[in-house]
Amino acid sequence: MTFDTVQKQLEDRGFTVRTFASGAEAAAYLNEAVDGVRVGIGGSVTVRELGLFESLSTHNTVHWHWTGGEGERTAAMSGDVYLTSVNALAETGELINIDGSGNRVAATLFGHRRVYFLVGQNKLAPTYEAALWRARNIAAPKNAQRLGARTPCAAKGDRCYDCKSPGRICRGLVVLWEPMLGTDMEVLLIKEDLGY
Ligand code: SF4
Repeated sequence: MTFDTVQKQLEDRGFTVRTFASGAEAAAYLNEAVDGVRVGIGGSVTVRELGLFESLSTHNTVHWHWTGGEGERTAAMSGDVYLTSVNALAETGELINIDGSGNRVAATLFGHRRVYFLVGQNKLAPTYEAALWRARNIAAPKNAQRLGARTPCAAKGDRCYDCKSPGRICRGLVVLWEPMLGTDMEVLLIKEDLGY
């Protein structure tokens, strides 16, 4: 796996990009770069797999609703730094996230000085269309299963059914073409499968 193409596309769009051979290396980098500040984390299996809440909490103030309860969802919406992943990254440079409550995608758009996107190699797709397909048919059903959603994708685990279920977790789609004005955005490309 080479990240050369997507790195150039992202840099041309204005994102800062770093590549790492492993998640552990990316976590070590973040623990150096993010120090003594207020950090918000979005719902992210990648962040959980890398133990970033635990390590960053030793030298930052970190808000994450997965560990601290619902109040932390709002607390994480503003601050110095926000950490999340993506549901898919197109090799043409678009970052794609689908959300149910909206806090995660909203926080990537506004409210922080810097946003880090941690992206395992499994999140890459060759085109925007393929990335959107991945976000809808791979990432979303797996997230629905993780959440125990009463949706056809969670029951069958094979694809999106574009359901009308009350428990539908796919409520909004955000595509980042470029970093939002006034926010530094850094994409950490990791040569390991992380999250889904
Ligand atoms: S729209 Fe419904 S079926 Fe499709 S992935 Fe989302 S929750 Fe599952």
